[in-house]
Amino acid sequence: MALSRLLPASILLALSLAGCQSKPAATETAATAAQAAAPDTAAAISAASISKYLQAVSSDEMLGRKPFTLGEQRSTQYLADEFKRLGLQPGPNGTYFQPVPLVEITGTPSPTLQIKGNGQPLNLQYKTDFVAFTQREQAEVKVTNSPLVFAGYGVVAPEYGWDDYAGLDVKGKTVVVLVNDPGNASQDSTLFKGRAMTYYGRWTYKYEEAARHGAAGLLIIHDTQPAAYPWSVVLSGATSPKLRAQTQNKGADKCALEGWLTLDAAKKLFQTAGLNYDQLYTAANTKGFRPRPLGGLTLTAGIQNKLRRQTSRNVLAVLPGTTRPQEYILYSAHWDHFGVGKTIAGDSIYNGAVDDGTGLAALLSIAEAFQKAKQKPQRSLVFLAVTGEEQGLLGSAYYAQHPPFPLNKTVADLNMDMLWPYGPMKDLTVIGYGQSELEDYARAAAKEQNRYLLPDQTPETGMFYRSDHFSFAHVGVPSLYASGGFESRSGGKASIAQQRQNYTATMYHKPADQFDPSWDLTGIAQDAQLYFRVGQRLAGETTFPQWREGSEFKGARDKSMGGK
Ligand SMILES: [Zn+2]
Repeated sequence: MALSRLLPASILLALSLAGCQSKPAATETAATAAQAAAPDTAAAISAASISKYLQAVSSDEMLGRKPFTLGEQRSTQYLADEFKRLGLQPGPNGTYFQPVPLVEITGTPSPTLQIKGNGQPLNLQYKTDFVAFTQREQAEVKVTNSPLVFAGYGVVAPEYGWDDYAGLDVKGKTVVVLVNDPGNASQDSTLFKGRAMTYYGRWTYKYEEAARHGAAGLLIIHDTQPAAYPWSVVLSGATSPKLRAQTQNKGADKCALEGWLTLDAAKKLFQTAGLNYDQLYTAANTKGFRPRPLGGLTLTAGIQNKLRRQTSRNVLAVLPGTTRPQEYILYSAHWDHFGVGKTIAGDSIYNGAVDDGTGLAALLSIAEAFQKAKQKPQRSLVFLAVTGEEQGLLGSAYYAQHPPFPLNKTVADLNMDMLWPYGPMKDLTVIGYGQSELEDYARAAAKEQNRYLLPDQTPETGMFYRSDHFSFAHVGVPSLYASGGFESRSGGKASIAQQRQNYTATMYHKPADQFDPSWDLTGIAQDAQLYFRVGQRLAGETTFPQWREGSEFKGARDKSMGGK
């Protein structure tokens, strides 16, 4: 998901400075008291342990940890060796690896989208008017004279009484839809979750829904504001080779053609259909909207694909539970990053220290702490480092589709992706706040550290859908994605906002994201201790934390737990 990985979210996150209350000093002692009460936590998880692991996973030696490279070989072997050194068990296949078969699709679309059917034909130009790609593992895909229809946001959300496909058979047709969801795009807080993006706003969902309706093609209209990123982001994401999970049916159940239209191209298309874009936009934001043909127009286009199949791997290890070993708590982080690439300032190794070397360092430190802890977990703990996150959460999605441990016995996923090396924080920001009871566990653990809980400051950017916990949420497993990063203990809100902005502008997905000995890793150690505490508590209970009412993931969980 190069798209999402360019994270305008973090820029927005860094920039949004909402007010929040700070706690009196008195409770500081409470925090140290709690730490005293749980010495085994602090002892094993420290800035020193984080530093040790972080330097190892983000060293030049790891060559930027890209799938299918020597960097993959070295970094995944290092993780497996560390899991073994810590005395953790291998997975059910007797190894510390879960093979993840992937296919790289490099597509070359036809130079134009040929639109015919209402007098003057319209030819939309590749890159300037549209981009297109496919998930079909085929050397060529073709869509010929496919009737064009407009289906609003392309959303079917029974819980909101919304069905943009109602009453129109779109089999074999090419559907044109708007980006994001009605609540966010129309700023109408009564629709969907208002400003907060729901999964229905994600482009992945729109392709999935169109495919479920048998459409031959799905084109999303790009509009910078509701998309939260410019056309250039769409362009770079769409024109680079796409890595996908290999599927039984070779992607035959997907739309043949997936893509985006620029807003200008969409307006030209609607005009050619004899329709007014603004009027239809308004209609699409109104409850009861119905899909409609685009003036009898048809689309013809094709994509030539080069396919490369290879197998990457997830790395996993288990600490078996004492009394209920058949129930599992997952800790996850992604090991992959961008490898060796374009040289910037004389450096071509994309070390990925923060993204996601910090998550890996926390994962290993937490595993070490559990091994050293006197109190052994009653439930089993699974430590999982996944591949292909940068290309679309591929390793975690594969795990969720091929779980080595039953999903309905998986209590929770505790995901760590990009922890801030800028010292201890007063907050714990929960991405996807309000989704599940896991945040109650996070709140209690934060309180022990004299930290307050904070909802995602930019829910409109849909960060909850952009890291590996989402793959687990998508199949119903309650998942937590949280870290400090809004109010620094030493520098307040402004300093950390500045540091995050600087990271996003100068280091994010660049060779400059490399280990810096001047970093203050005590904040990361605190986040890892908090995650340790949440897992330790869950591992000592019989509860299965639930999704909250209204969460779009509750249905999947109820189903997997055998409920309605
Ligand atoms: Zn990441």
